[in-house]
Amino acid sequence: MTKDGAFEIRVRGRVQGVGFRPAVWRHAQALALDGDVLNDSDGVLVRVAGAADRAAALVDALRRDLPPLAEIQSIETRDCTAILPSGFRIVESQGGAANTQVSPDARLCAACETEIADPANRRFGYAFTNCTHCGPRLSIVASIPYDRATTTMAAFPMCADCRTEYGDPANRRFHAEPIACPACGPRLVLHTADGAAMDGDPIMGAARLLTDGAILAVKGLGGYQLACDAANPDAVTRLRQAKKREGKPFALMLRDLDAVRHICELGDDEARLLNSAAAPIVLLRARAGAKLAPQVAPGLDNLGVMLPTTPLHALLLAELDTPLVMTSGNLTGEPQITQDTEAMEKLPAVASHILSHDRAIANRVDDSVVRVMAGVPRVIRRARGYAPAPIRLPAGFEVAPEILALGGELKSTFCLVKDGQATLSQHQGDLEQAAAFDEFRRNIDLYRILFDSAPSLVAVDVHPDYLSSKHGRAMALPLLEIQHHHAHIASCLAENGWPLDGAEVLGIALDGLGLGADGTIWGGEFLLADYRGFMRLAHFKPVAMPGGAAAIREPWRNLHAHLAAAKVPMDGFSALRGKPLETIAAMMERGINAPLASSCGRLFDAVAAALELCVDAQAYEGDAAARLETLAGAAEGGDGYDFAVSNRLIDPAPMWTQLRADRDAGMDYAVIATRFHTGLARALTDMTRKLSGFDTVALSGGCFQNRLLFEQTLRRLEGAGFTVLTHARVPANDGGLALGQAAIAAARTIKGDRTCV
Ligand code: ZN
Ligand code: ZN
Ligand code: FE
Repeated sequence: MTKDGAFEIRVRGRVQGVGFRPAVWRHAQALALDGDVLNDSDGVLVRVAGAADRAAALVDALRRDLPPLAEIQSIETRDCTAILPSGFRIVESQGGAANTQVSPDARLCAACETEIADPANRRFGYAFTNCTHCGPRLSIVASIPYDRATTTMAAFPMCADCRTEYGDPANRRFHAEPIACPACGPRLVLHTADGAAMDGDPIMGAARLLTDGAILAVKGLGGYQLACDAANPDAVTRLRQAKKREGKPFALMLRDLDAVRHICELGDDEARLLNSAAAPIVLLRARAGAKLAPQVAPGLDNLGVMLPTTPLHALLLAELDTPLVMTSGNLTGEPQITQDTEAMEKLPAVASHILSHDRAIANRVDDSVVRVMAGVPRVIRRARGYAPAPIRLPAGFEVAPEILALGGELKSTFCLVKDGQATLSQHQGDLEQAAAFDEFRRNIDLYRILFDSAPSLVAVDVHPDYLSSKHGRAMALPLLEIQHHHAHIASCLAENGWPLDGAEVLGIALDGLGLGADGTIWGGEFLLADYRGFMRLAHFKPVAMPGGAAAIREPWRNLHAHLAAAKVPMDGFSALRGKPLETIAAMMERGINAPLASSCGRLFDAVAAALELCVDAQAYEGDAAARLETLAGAAEGGDGYDFAVSNRLIDPAPMWTQLRADRDAGMDYAVIATRFHTGLARALTDMTRKLSGFDTVALSGGCFQNRLLFEQTLRRLEGAGFTVLTHARVPANDGGLALGQAAIAAARTIKGDRTCV
């Protein structure tokens, strides 16, 4: 029976729960191989009988024709002594460590999309169609092992037809846990605001309402959403008012790529991203004259756009020939609603009707947001489609203990480390919101179950008042406190595979605020860093934040403080007209509620206010900087403004003098905004050249989500001969902090502490 012997093929990577075993089975059938395939704690193990070239042919076939959601990290082939029966079979998992991986939710695949549009198919028009290559995962799972019984599909016993598909290795739905059809699966219902179910087809009814200008609540994949016709100014305005959301742009959902091209500039990278299994919101440049209500994204030339992510959305969009606003279904200051009772109670305040269904949402999963910068997709909000895919930690971290890192406070995420892998949670939101903080704690418990994690160490931000830090301190575990900007840099190192023993790099961390190692507020930092420690080589000149937290919300305060620090006259800046300038000046003089901060984010706020953007209030964190980038657009700015770059300090004073002169000369604000961005990128490069001890630079912090600043800085640093590490899979903003904290905590445990100064 053994013919020429046998071979064992070990496959590692994302190979469980993605239809990998049936793919092996199909290829083995086609090649007429004898053997078997199974899932275990290391991934997938294939055994085949026969000569070496037959095993090689199978490996070739697997690499050539991989299931869409699978990702191979490595394939090793070696001899084995097993005696294999004839035929090829899939060995059922024996529970335990195997089969416990929970993967990210995946967008409706092309095959399922064809089925729901085919009147002859039994899933024609069915809003919950899915298969091994697509459908809900994280959003429906409540426990492990990942199978139907531990998901919210447990309430729907499979019909005979679905059971046959589920059990057939040749079928695309073999072991697709959320498999469903109109006979056995969840059902849609369209409710009026008072809860009455409406007659007729729910999709048709919903489409008609949207066409007529209604605001509709939709039970989406990972939470309720609010939708309206994006070309209808009245509907968009009503939605803004009802959500009490003034400036923050709304995301759009469009039926297909052609529809996207009508309203946005669309590159190939961006089209691929929209169409990918993750199907995130992609930030795109709006086309002039796009048929959209101006209230969709006031003051911004960027639109957040996504394609239909689920069959429900695809069916709805197919009935409409207009883009939809698709925003999270919640009231101001609360996370996206996931529960039907809460939706029925709260959303009628905003929506006239609710398109709902009876498949429960186990976990809130927000839409992810991605932007292509310097030709690479860069995740800004990591949630649906990306979390909880594991991130393999670099060489040297294999022996790390189990760690829980709790991240920051805004754009919060947490991170679990186990077996050299980091699992970064989906975006949890701003922990200052009580409901978000409750959910954050619940999700930590859930992830510990899903990933069978028992951390021996907790890592938190050094900030005493972050709710995540307080939560970590209250846990009965050894605690490591990590400096905020060091964590940003370590996060960038970790996602770039920088080895534990790698040389020190220059980390440039630019963000709003984080507590520094000296007890002052940092946010424009040059750190000579490795995973274990750092030395603060240089930073932005600290400038007062008059009013403390008020200065975060109100950009004019930063303009005042920056002009005062630069000794540039304030007269004529309309942003300061009618403001209590004397009081502010007195506060700064006496140091009352005017903490100094070396923050790059506050500098952006100040310049935005000088150009009359977001003067009195930012609608959200980073609002002023986003508008400043939009204002700059494609204007030419030459070499930009000068910053004073000394050995340890970047001082924007000369920039303010030049900016004021340009403004007095009646210069176009777009040119002024460009000169600011260009000058800042030049200053960062000049400072990097003055420093020594590294040849690699890591860029992190939320300011690097500004495309102009990021692309110019990257180009200049690379032009100066530096290797530059940047974020792509992990956000540069505080959503990436937890990964950095985890890496630092792991490094210190493995290699010992090192001082940070
Ligand atoms: Zn599918
Ligand atoms: Zn069925
Ligand atoms: Fe930060």
